[in-house]
This record gives sequence, C-alpha cells and structure tokens, in this order.
Amino acid sequence: MSEAPRPSRLAVAADAIHTRRMRKRHLQSVAVIAILASVGVGALLLSGCGDASAKSESDRVLIVLDAGHGGRDPGAVCEGVKEADVNLAIAKCVADLIEADGRLTVKLTRTLDISVSLENRIAVANDADADLYLSIQSNACEYSDATGVVTLVSDTLDEGAPSWQFAEILQDAVTSATGARDRGVRAQDLYLHRAKMPAALIEVGFLTNNGERTQLTDPVYQQTIAQGIYDGIVAYIEYTDPSLAEI
Ligand SMILES: [Zn+2]
Repeated sequence: MSEAPRPSRLAVAADAIHTRRMRKRHLQSVAVIAILASVGVGALLLSGCGDASAKSESDRVLIVLDAGHGGRDPGAVCEGVKEADVNLAIAKCVADLIEADGRLTVKLTRTLDISVSLENRIAVANDADADLYLSIQSNACEYSDATGVVTLVSDTLDEGAPSWQFAEILQDAVTSATGARDRGVRAQDLYLHRAKMPAALIEVGFLTNNGERTQLTDPVYQQTIAQGIYDGIVAYIEYTDPSLAEI
C-alpha cells in the first residue's frame, strides 16, 4: 500500500493549526474591543498597551513541553541514571530555546522532580489552549543493543492527522541534528488522545544502551537533542502558519 500523498497531509495539518490561530486572534480582537469600549483608549495607552511592535503573549504560538515521569515514577532506571532526570534536563533546554524565539512561548508540565498524573499533563495544554503538545521521554529495552529515536502518536488518529505531520517533521529534525538511528513515527495506545491540539511523544534514545546512555547524560548532547526538537517545532509551526516564517 502506498502512502497518502504528502502535500494533502501537510495541508490538513496546516489548516488545523491555522484555524486555531485565527480563532485565537479573533477572540483577542473581541477582547480588545470590549476593553476599549469600557476603559477608554487613554487609559490603555497610559498602562503601556499602546506598543504596537511588541508581540503579545497571547499572540505567540504556545508549546506545552512535558518531561516524562518524575517524583514517585522515575521511569526507566539504568546504571543509576533516572529517565525522569534526563527528560527534564532536555525539556528545560528546549524551553530555553523556545523562550528565546519571540514568536513562541512555552509551558512545562513540571520543572522539578515531582509526580504529575498523565491527565494533569494534558490538562496543562488543554486549559491553556496550547498550539502543540510534546512529551519528551527516553527509551528502555531488554536488548541492550537497541538504539535510536522514535516519535509516537496516539493510535486513535489516522495518518492524515496534524499530530502525524508534527511527529514526522520532528522525527526528521531530531535524527538530522543528532545523527541517531531513525526508528520512524509510530502509532501507539497513549494518553495523548486527550489532547485537543497536535500532540506527540518523542523517545530521544535508549538508556539501556551503554553508548546512548552516556550521550543522554552529557549536557552537550542534551543540547544537541534540544536543538533538533526546537528545529522540528519551528519547521512545523512555520509550515502551518507561513506568516510566522517572515518574522
Ligand atoms: Zn518514559
């Protein structure tokens, strides 16, 4: 069976996120008109809202990053290395890169080694009306020679869904940045089906492989992965909203 034509899958993803952005901007305009009517333009200018060049927080693309596991659930533990710690270190690097990009903003589901339920992780994204959700995880396997990067999406989606497109772009970006083995994008029974926005989970490498475990605990390699993840997020966002590529 041949794959569905790539352009139409991209178009579906683009439409979905573009519609979300337009809806947000519309709601924002309505809110601004209401404030203007009730407070008056003078008061707004005095309070500093007259700076047309500043990109407001609500006009930025919101990415929710999830560092998998934490607290009572360390995830995979290999040779003293806890998956929860590796995931958080990489998520923080990605968050720094996103914060430095004036078009984007970020929320983390956790910034400490604490327990957060899967429901609450998704609720952070849904409640904030985020544009993208990404869970960052590290893999483990009974075969110590298993290596590479894989990106997962919910098996409730068909292959034309925006989450699939995001996952494919992300997978390409991270394997390009790291040179790690490309294990592709796969559908799996995941909690991600609750997300109201494109959502994926990336497994950035295997803690059960000696070589990859050494890399995954190295801040330089963590930064390389983070750069790949950031590049993938930006590539997806710019495709779905080409106007952002011009900023
Ligand atoms: Zn995990």
